[in-house]
Amino acid sequence: MAGSGRKTPPQELQTSQLGQPSREQRNTLTENIQVTAQNADEVFEYLPRYKVLVCKTHRYAVRDLDEHLKRLHKTAIAERRAITSHFADCERIGHAQVTLPPPLEPPFDCLGTPKRAYICEEPECEELSTSRDAIRIHCNKKHDWRSTPDQRTYWHEVWVQTFFNAAGLQRYFTVDYETAFSPRKRGGRVVILDTANSRLGNVVTDWDEIDKKHLKSLAIADREVAKTDHTLWFKRNEWPEHLASSNLRHLSLASRLPGKEDRALQEAVEVNKALIESCVAGLRTLDRETRRWLRSAKLSEPDQRPLARLQNPESQQRYTSYMSRLLCYSLRVLQSQREQETQHDEGIGSASSDESADDRRSEDSVVDEGYGSQAGIDVFKDARRLYPWQGRQRQLLERVQESITYGWIDGAQQEALLQWYESIIFQHVRGETFKSVVLHFLAVLGIHEEEFRLRQANDFSYMLAGVVYCTRVLGAEIILPARERDEQDEADDKRFRQSRDEHLSDGTFSVMSKMLSLLAYGKSIALRHNNAGTMSFSDPALLLSTALLPLQVRSLLSS
Ligand SMILES: [Zn+2]
Ligand SMILES: [Zn+2]
Repeated sequence: MAGSGRKTPPQELQTSQLGQPSREQRNTLTENIQVTAQNADEVFEYLPRYKVLVCKTHRYAVRDLDEHLKRLHKTAIAERRAITSHFADCERIGHAQVTLPPPLEPPFDCLGTPKRAYICEEPECEELSTSRDAIRIHCNKKHDWRSTPDQRTYWHEVWVQTFFNAAGLQRYFTVDYETAFSPRKRGGRVVILDTANSRLGNVVTDWDEIDKKHLKSLAIADREVAKTDHTLWFKRNEWPEHLASSNLRHLSLASRLPGKEDRALQEAVEVNKALIESCVAGLRTLDRETRRWLRSAKLSEPDQRPLARLQNPESQQRYTSYMSRLLCYSLRVLQSQREQETQHDEGIGSASSDESADDRRSEDSVVDEGYGSQAGIDVFKDARRLYPWQGRQRQLLERVQESITYGWIDGAQQEALLQWYESIIFQHVRGETFKSVVLHFLAVLGIHEEEFRLRQANDFSYMLAGVVYCTRVLGAEIILPARERDEQDEADDKRFRQSRDEHLSDGTFSVMSKMLSLLAYGKSIALRHNNAGTMSFSDPALLLSTALLPLQVRSLLSS
């Protein structure tokens, strides 16, 4: 329906920050664009995945097409009928039934400029609001947070869009706006690994020169972070040592969610989503006692509350997206490893070809110097070096990749993925933390996606909480598969307790144990960090921005 290459509505029809065109814009619109059945595809875009029809001039999903055309486009009745029947085949569902897109995907062009919003930082909550006041009230009421000069906020800023715009119908979802679309990074589009046609030499790295220098200094600066770190957070997580002399930008990019063009990884993300959803669904039939043990961090004491589906479905999406990044990162590293091995197998005999000569050069060159080179930059070099393959993990991940490449049936794909998860979760690490894929990945996840610096404790704990939740849910399904629930008996309960004690509780040298203690440490540091803050409510910029907010809203409402 969108019609690539077709004319889009003129720039002046772009929406204001609140998504609704002003009155003047509306007048221009009705004068200049008479919607007809012929140009209807230029004005409206149907999104089949969400079953909504978006008006590209008004930037929201239309509920009653006839009414919308009549009221906002001043379309005559005969034309309205033609347009309505033009879209008759596009199935639409009510605003409450529409499923929201996964968090942090690229924004929809047709929905206009994303809005600023605020997301609650309480683990497993993630209340989202475009109103700073609303989120403040939420944090105060729900989490007993009080604004003190030292702990100003209990939320952070995100970009959001919504399909429906009318008051009370907005349901916001987070979008990856700054990284993908901000002007400074627009040129920095990176296509990583299309399995259908994959050559790592094809990794597109057309970052502009200024960007490079800036980011290079950032990446280097981060190596020095331990020296100036007063929180001891980085001493505890050992990220700076682990990532020393690595290019943080490359590592972070290697763990990004795939772009639309990367079908294979998109598919992997879908399988991962479906798997975690079915694990969560399986919790329902688990015994309450079992679920209390699952939720508990402690070795000998179940939690008061049982592990359960999160109240906010967006939280599950967000948490799942961290695991999707782990999966995509692992698949990219695997692919890169294979490419390397193939090249080595082919040997130097094939050096006559320009391509292999370039590959070899990029492999040998220091990454930081490689920026200026025209040859493909080996963005996976550090990831390959640091990725800790253990036991059968590589074999199992190869199975996952195969299941996707050859389009196994859904159940078989999920089973392959679950077995890989088992191999990386049910692992003991003792002193060698980064021999665990999961714990290595946490360091990668700890790289800020836009600034390429390491995240502080208060900026990371909510992510870690998400990984912990997913790990528990996956662990439950691995030990007690939901489809065998009817046959499970006391012996299985006993087996569950054993496995859980050994691998999913604190103080057991397990991957989970390391995560739990890091999470506890991160939370305590975040608290201290906030108490040691220097910003306060007397900050004039802050007072100004909060004071202006109601005024903006008022003026927009009265226009
Ligand atoms: Zn419209
Ligand atoms: Zn909350």
